Amino acid sequence: MTPDQLLAAPETVLPTLRGAVAGLPSYVPGRPSAGADIAALASNESHYDPLPAATAAVAEAAGRMNRYPDMAAVELRERLARHLGVTAGEVAVGPGSVGVLQQIITGLCDAGDEVVFAWRSFEAYPILVELAGARPVRIPLDDAEGHDLDAMAAAVTARTKVILLCTPNNPTGVPISHARLEAFLQTVRSDILVVIDEAYVEYADAGSGPDSLALYRRYPNVCILRTFSKAYGLAGLRVGYAVAAPAIAEGLRRTALPFAVSALAQKAAVASLDAGEEMEARVAAVKQERARMAAQLAAQGWKLQPSQANFLWIRADSRLLAVLVDAFDSAGILVRAYQGDGVRITVADPASNDRVLRLLEAHTA
Ligand SMILES: *Cc1c(COP(=O)(O)O)cnc(C)c1O
Repeated sequence: MTPDQLLAAPETVLPTLRGAVAGLPSYVPGRPSAGADIAALASNESHYDPLPAATAAVAEAAGRMNRYPDMAAVELRERLARHLGVTAGEVAVGPGSVGVLQQIITGLCDAGDEVVFAWRSFEAYPILVELAGARPVRIPLDDAEGHDLDAMAAAVTARTKVILLCTPNNPTGVPISHARLEAFLQTVRSDILVVIDEAYVEYADAGSGPDSLALYRRYPNVCILRTFSKAYGLAGLRVGYAVAAPAIAEGLRRTALPFAVSALAQKAAVASLDAGEEMEARVAAVKQERARMAAQLAAQGWKLQPSQANFLWIRADSRLLAVLVDAFDSAGILVRAYQGDGVRITVADPASNDRVLRLLEAHTA
């Protein structure tokens, strides 16, 4: 039969996607984030150019891209181990921390196993869980936009394999305190992996969130997840990592897609760690802007929870959300709207932040 005849035949059954895949949201392309008057404040990227040392490392490595990268990422894992005070055997890298998280979930969950996480939190969580055939268990945030750890502990069942904690939480910016997280860990079964997703940890004030490495040393079922995509400014290169007990980290390395972290990304990540002070100066500037925006928005009458990340969160009912989305759209400011919940705005350069402040002043709730 020709392809046309095959398609026309009424009995033809075409390949079907798994139900879990058919149920996933489609990727909606955003508007171009470049352009004279477009402010790209939707993805919590660094608004700075890449660190010069990272750009130089990429340029240097580009001449060898006919070769596969080091699959074991030895240099980067050893550099991270030194940076964190762990061994390279406790480090697994992947294509962004989302890539590492996919390795975690597929590595630990069988079909029907449960993954508990707060909601609203990072949008990738339910997608990765459902893709693995596991069951997402969403626990609503508390009234202060933070994790309701009591409710999360109560949601644990015999099928729970992983708990995802996001601190500071995306999209609300609220951290989990060290004391509350430690009290939570004391109640969680030791065979459940507790992932602490710290994508924005560099932006958190000292002492606002957990000392995750200290908790990891005390509770070996803790796994720390971090990324070079946000404060380090390497979102486009795709590299993140996990710190976990050696057997878990080894398992994550085994589940990795071969060569998923390019040599360019590995070299840029090493160079970025070496340029830590430069990164910290940039982070300090963003934090200063965050404080300036928070103060001005409070003066305008907005009641926001303090953010420990490089974004602000405005809770909005559907009426306010529609008004804000319209206003940001007309102003050429790209922000992230969450139907039914609110809008998240990345803190960037002072000029962009001023545009946000002017816009919000006209729409005070
Ligand atoms: C941005 C983000 C990540 C990091 O994503 P990458 O895959 O490393 O780019 C992870 N977790 C959260 C909560 C994030 O917001």
